[in-house]
Amino acid sequence: MRSRLRTCVAGVVAAAVALSTVAAAGPAQAHPRNDNVRKIVKAVSGKNVKNHLRVFQAIADRFDGTRVSGTRGYDASRDYVSLLLRLAGYKVTVQPFEFLFEGYRTPPLLKRTAPQEETYRYGFFSDYIAMGDSPAGSVSGPIQPVDLTLPPGEPNSSTSGCEASDFAGFTPGGIALMQRGTCNFRVKVENAIAAGASGAIVFNEGQEGRTEIDLNPVLGGPGITIPSFFTSFAVGEELAAAGTSVTMNWDPVSEMRTTYNVIAESRKGDPGNVVMLGAHLDSVQEGPGINDNGSGSAGVLEVALQMAKLKPKNKMRFAFWGAEEFGLLGSAHYVANLPEEERAKIALYLNFDMIASTNYTFGIYDGDGDAFGTAGPPGSDQIEADFEKYFADRGEPFTATAFTGRSDYGPFIEVGIPSGGLFTGAEVLKTPEEAAIFGGTAGVPLDPCYHQACDTIKNISDKALDVNADAIATLAATYAFDTGGIGGAGTAASQARGQAAHRHGPAESLN
Ligand SMILES: [Zn+2]
Repeated sequence: MRSRLRTCVAGVVAAAVALSTVAAAGPAQAHPRNDNVRKIVKAVSGKNVKNHLRVFQAIADRFDGTRVSGTRGYDASRDYVSLLLRLAGYKVTVQPFEFLFEGYRTPPLLKRTAPQEETYRYGFFSDYIAMGDSPAGSVSGPIQPVDLTLPPGEPNSSTSGCEASDFAGFTPGGIALMQRGTCNFRVKVENAIAAGASGAIVFNEGQEGRTEIDLNPVLGGPGITIPSFFTSFAVGEELAAAGTSVTMNWDPVSEMRTTYNVIAESRKGDPGNVVMLGAHLDSVQEGPGINDNGSGSAGVLEVALQMAKLKPKNKMRFAFWGAEEFGLLGSAHYVANLPEEERAKIALYLNFDMIASTNYTFGIYDGDGDAFGTAGPPGSDQIEADFEKYFADRGEPFTATAFTGRSDYGPFIEVGIPSGGLFTGAEVLKTPEEAAIFGGTAGVPLDPCYHQACDTIKNISDKALDVNADAIATLAATYAFDTGGIGGAGTAASQARGQAAHRHGPAESLN
């Protein structure tokens, strides 16, 4: 089967990369005397964590720039973490599951060919994105602006492409350039098809809050026959210039694929009281995912490696989730397949998703609900307090981040398992108040490369990575011996929560 060959190639590459890294960095082996919290925290160095990120980057470089679930880049990441954890002595389980892979077969293309050449960047918060339900297509032609309002008027006032009459004088074969506003994207694209357009580009309308690709534009079902892109306002304005021609290529794929969770468990420790840590190992297809979520994966991995010689009182379990970016699928699969009595043995779950954003804040999941009004299962408040104590002791500021279930702890809190975790921020802009507390730049996203091709090894705050890796080590090593007042699902009242798992991209929008 195809996947077998892939696995084999990926495995060899991961092993080669791992061994060369180990050779370069020295063995990432735990010192036998890493037997208390202080020693483990000291052993978990930012430098070692960064080395894992270098491996993830090398894997992405080898496999089309991505580590998305369902591709060789993910499988190589899986092989890398499983190899190191096995060598360290953990009992490692690779748990396969099927999922619907939705992405593209060849890289998307939006290229201006005249007046000057320019190749735009694909992805949310970037230059352009394919609209949901756009068919495949590769087309080239002159841009024909359709009833544009430049500069833009009031928000949602553009009627570009909403009426058939907007296309009077449209030369068939051209690419219709339209502006967001008033009617659904589908209406605009259907009118463009009726006028003979070979491709459709809709750009964001241009007012404040309507400039970036912070929505997931969808065409509302099948039946569209021309490739259809959505761009930022800046790109749309550029394409509106006279004499512009473009090439568009969209080659989508939607098929069932296999991906994997990696679960590593300590051989020692009380199996009736399990301390669990996790991070999603997959990236989005648009990039290598070094901050999202190489950072969380590398932090959990390094803590596991440094704790390998520990004889914990409680069983330690480290999870690396697949297909988080497709809707928390790996963690949901794991929890759904865990028998009730096994769930009850999990004292708590700690989640790490993006811990080294370059324009970071030190966010702690709001387990007690005092900041955002949604508390986690009982015990989540204690986990939040324990993280707060770590940051206070270290002399670093911290803030609460909403406990919404938007990452892999979602399936755990749904079955009543106390949870907590860290988050340094994604697409949201840093506020002046946050800049005053944490430094960095107000008005810029906390992670300016969130879900983009530029989420590379350069997109890491070494300081945040180091501080947060030590935070993971502190709580993991503490709970290894004492889960204190934090009960598991067996003791806590189960708090079923209704929120649907969803990928942490923007919400779908019809207009
Ligand atoms: Zn993530």
